[in-house]
Amino acid sequence: MGRRKSKRKGAPRQKNIVPLPILFDCPFCNHKQACEVKIDRIKNLGRVSCTVCQEMYQTSANYLTEPIDIYNDWIDACEKEN
Ligand SMILES: [Zn+2]
Repeated sequence: MGRRKSKRKGAPRQKNIVPLPILFDCPFCNHKQACEVKIDRIKNLGRVSCTVCQEMYQTSANYLTEPIDIYNDWIDACEKEN
């Protein structure tokens, strides 16, 4: 008589909660992880600024905007200017 005890315990999967990186490489001074992105959800403004060379860029944001979008906008704007 085999009593099957199949208590399947799903191994608790620990989710690595990694916050979205909000530090990016600076296109001006080329410092790694020097640009900080901040999104103002109230004013719908995205701002990225370099903590090394103080270069700054500001663009419009919406509720879907991620820090990387702000950064990409900045890179685009830089490339257009050059
Ligand atoms: Zn910089």
